[in-house]
Amino acid sequence: MVQPNRQAIALISDHADPAGEIGMEEAGGQNVYVRRIGESLAELGWQVDIFTRRSAPDDPAIVEHAPHCRTIRLKAGPEAFVPRNELFAYMPEFLAAFQKFQTKQAIRYPLIHSNYWLSGWVGLQLKQEQNSQLIHTYHSLGAVKYDALQSRPAIAPTRLGIETELLERSDCVVATSPQEKEVLNRYYADQGRVEVIPCGTTPNFHNIPKAQARQNLGWGREKKIVLYVGRFDPRKGIETLVRACAQLKNQGYQHLQLVLAGGSSLESLDGAERRRIEALVRELDLSAETLFAGRIPHDSLPWHYSAADVCVIPSYYEPFGLVSIEAIACGTPVIASRVGGLKFSVIPEETGLLVQPRNVEELAQAIERVLEDELWAKKLKKQANSDSNPRFSWKSSAMQLSNLYRYSLARSIMHDQPWNPEVSRLTALDAPAPADLVV
Ligand code: UDP
Repeated sequence: MVQPNRQAIALISDHADPAGEIGMEEAGGQNVYVRRIGESLAELGWQVDIFTRRSAPDDPAIVEHAPHCRTIRLKAGPEAFVPRNELFAYMPEFLAAFQKFQTKQAIRYPLIHSNYWLSGWVGLQLKQEQNSQLIHTYHSLGAVKYDALQSRPAIAPTRLGIETELLERSDCVVATSPQEKEVLNRYYADQGRVEVIPCGTTPNFHNIPKAQARQNLGWGREKKIVLYVGRFDPRKGIETLVRACAQLKNQGYQHLQLVLAGGSSLESLDGAERRRIEALVRELDLSAETLFAGRIPHDSLPWHYSAADVCVIPSYYEPFGLVSIEAIACGTPVIASRVGGLKFSVIPEETGLLVQPRNVEELAQAIERVLEDELWAKKLKKQANSDSNPRFSWKSSAMQLSNLYRYSLARSIMHDQPWNPEVSRLTALDAPAPADLVV
């Protein structure tokens, strides 16, 4: 139920259902982002309505997952999983369902925060038709992603065109790292307003004593545990990690245990990548050292991070990489590819190491260094623990977003005053509270 004294805003997340399961095919960081941001914004006084595409007939149409924060599933295309590259065709139906919902509820959202380019297209239409303020977060940039892949899908030119339009026409774009802001200006356009507001973690991502975490999971005390957490997607570079572990084994490294967490059933879309990785593990004679842990419920992950000696993110491209800050918040050193947002979230020699993507040799050496140098690993752990929370928290991300929304709405009421270039640093006094903006 929308409260009359709360300003309702719409978050659009076409494919990433915040009320859905994380770690499954194409469900990952964006689902976590939208849910955590939505719930934290509701705590700050907004009525948050998150719109997503209905992907299963039995899913309830509306899920209220926190007070004043709900997910609304709109019918657009088949009520089944549809890969992202095939979803654009259903976006006009999504837009129509959104407008129908507004009419039925007698709401007109004055501010839309779209997530990913498909939702961005919907946001652009709503901006044009009903003059909503449009804030956009990309989550993934086609221009960089396609550079990292061998082949481009047929949808690529459409996506790149809409991504450029979003930078030029949104009231503000939210980049999750300074690297993303720089890439936006280099690949797309040098005009457009971009605010950097990083992602976060929740307080339950904290260090649990390693022995306790291993006992809880039934993992041996003597093992050297190398952990991967994430989807099974070729751009995640799991192959490089498997090859690096095989190299360490061949060099006689003892007690190595590779844990691969995430992914869904073998029959699903991401099952193809999992089958490929399983075959590689067998081919490299690494089966005894590898555990396919499957999808782990998000809130259980602090146990896995805390039990591991190192968390590896071997991605070829990573817009932000939530896994990095989650592992660091649990005091676990991270070895990540020197790409995208990982260059922002991992501080080399302090919270982990950065390596060249696809470089098996360099990754193997980095893993060995973290596993062998216990004193250094302990220092990393201590620094990781103390450094992480103030730097990355969902509460802080939501506060910065809330300031941005308030500023954006106030500015629209005052007939498009010139934009203050330092919006995310505005304090609570600089713009009206959500309740004062009710339209
Ligand atoms: N995740 C999870 N369970 C799993 C695998 C992944 O909860 O079994 C979560 C993980 O904790 C992280 C998100 O999925 O919050 C992945 O986000 P990231 O930004 O690292 O990658 P993306 O999925 O956006 O490519």
